Amino acid sequence: MDRRKGIERCLCRECPTFVDCKEEVAYCLGNTGKSTCIMEEQGCLCPGCPVLEEEGFSYVYYCTRGTETDQLAPR
Ligand code: SF4
Ligand code: SF4
Repeated sequence: MDRRKGIERCLCRECPTFVDCKEEVAYCLGNTGKSTCIMEEQGCLCPGCPVLEEEGFSYVYYCTRGTETDQLAPR
């Protein structure tokens, strides 16, 4: 998915875990990855997100655990 579209559709900003440190959201997409400021997992809205569905992704907590690819192959 186009990165800009992903960021527009991303639900992270509504999420209880989200901390706004002016970084780009859509943490699930390639080249984004973990947040630099979100540390505590307090619920995740990714399972209801249109980006997740469209991309066929299956993880959660991309902000703290990394992109879909990172979570498929932990480093
Ligand atoms: S799946 Fe999660 S990280 Fe990815 S765009 Fe949706 S809400 Fe944001
Ligand atoms: S990746 Fe999940 S837990 Fe993190 S801010 Fe987005 S919806 Fe919330």
